[in-house]
Amino acid sequence: MDPLEQQLREAFSQIPFGEGSVMDQDVIYSLAIEGNRAEAMLIVEQEHESLIEQTAKAVHEVLMQVEGIAEVGIQVVDSLEEAQAAEKEAKSAEACGCGSPAGSCESAAPKQAQGASQNPHPSRTANPAPPQAVNYLGEYEFIILVASGKGGVGKSTTAVNLALALKSLGKSVSLLDADIYGPSLPTMMGARGEFPEIIGQAIQPMSRHGIEFMSMGSLVDEEEAMIWRGPMAHQAVEQMLRDTTWPGGDYMIIDLPPGTGDVQITLAQKTRATGAVVVCTPQDVALMDARKAINMFDKVSIPTLGIVENMSFFKCPGCGEETPIFSTGGAEKEAGAQEVPFLGKIPIELNIRRCGDEGTPIVAAYPEAESSKSFITMAKKLDEILKGA
Ligand code: ADP
Repeated sequence: MDPLEQQLREAFSQIPFGEGSVMDQDVIYSLAIEGNRAEAMLIVEQEHESLIEQTAKAVHEVLMQVEGIAEVGIQVVDSLEEAQAAEKEAKSAEACGCGSPAGSCESAAPKQAQGASQNPHPSRTANPAPPQAVNYLGEYEFIILVASGKGGVGKSTTAVNLALALKSLGKSVSLLDADIYGPSLPTMMGARGEFPEIIGQAIQPMSRHGIEFMSMGSLVDEEEAMIWRGPMAHQAVEQMLRDTTWPGGDYMIIDLPPGTGDVQITLAQKTRATGAVVVCTPQDVALMDARKAINMFDKVSIPTLGIVENMSFFKCPGCGEETPIFSTGGAEKEAGAQEVPFLGKIPIELNIRRCGDEGTPIVAAYPEAESSKSFITMAKKLDEILKGA
């Protein structure tokens, strides 16, 4: 037996699960190691639901201890059928790490069906293929990740208003709230407290202001989503991607969680993202975070399509004087330094906050407002960049 396989089998035997261990209870359905990334799929049946978090965490820890592993993705499903279905869906895209065509190798085979024990199959390829994207999102011409290095800079506000601005240009647009730690789309889209229709396993996206959208905040209690971390967050995002019946169209706008961690990387890799839009405020500390976000996208080969400077200035409604509360122009400079397009500045406006809280974003409520015009100009720029104009 490969020494790594032996090491993992031993480690998994130490993780308690039900009457035995993760190893002897056949919790691990598949495990693939590719380069510095490990991906495991666990089967935890409903009766053991309360063990999901601790088990996923323990498996995550074991894998992170393997030399050379820097990232671990854990997916938890509740039955063998679901594991097989997830695997089938991922088939050609989920590179298994053994070098065989995906879906045909040993690790991909549904061993439990034959009553055999699980094979964690941790062999590495000499030349691992880069992880490929799973087309969970259906048919969109462009999939745009809206990101920020840190929270509170107006990422969700930008995602929502950019979506509406694209819509006002005649595009068909969907919106996914992947900010599972602080899902704000239900509020901003005017659907707080409403639940999507679920037919079988399929979640029907909700619709507001001419945009189909889905948010974890519409599926679970907002406070519950806030406490998810690591593996649970991965699983939640993955399920939301996989199980929503997206209509397809011109644009899918994804509101990413703030920061540059595992969930962001998973999403970037799983969604065939066309590119990213990075939102920041003008002061130096925010720009440093924006730089980190751009670097993260570079590492996963996703182009940064542009930087947006939010809260650039406050224009006095009385005298019209512009005050750069958080400084101004920093993001434009940074865009120049990073050689990425600058998409525009959004002023601080009371109505941006108010309209967001009331569920009709400013571009829908006041299309003539200065900020709405900025969002629309930004949408045109983005569309031109993407069309190569
Ligand atoms: P993030 O997604 O980066 O955490 P949000 O988009 O949720 O940030 O914005 C945080 C808060 O700031 C929200 O209440 C939002 O309405 C408000 N906000 C964002 N941008 C502006 C702006 N340009 N002017 C006024 N309020 C804003």
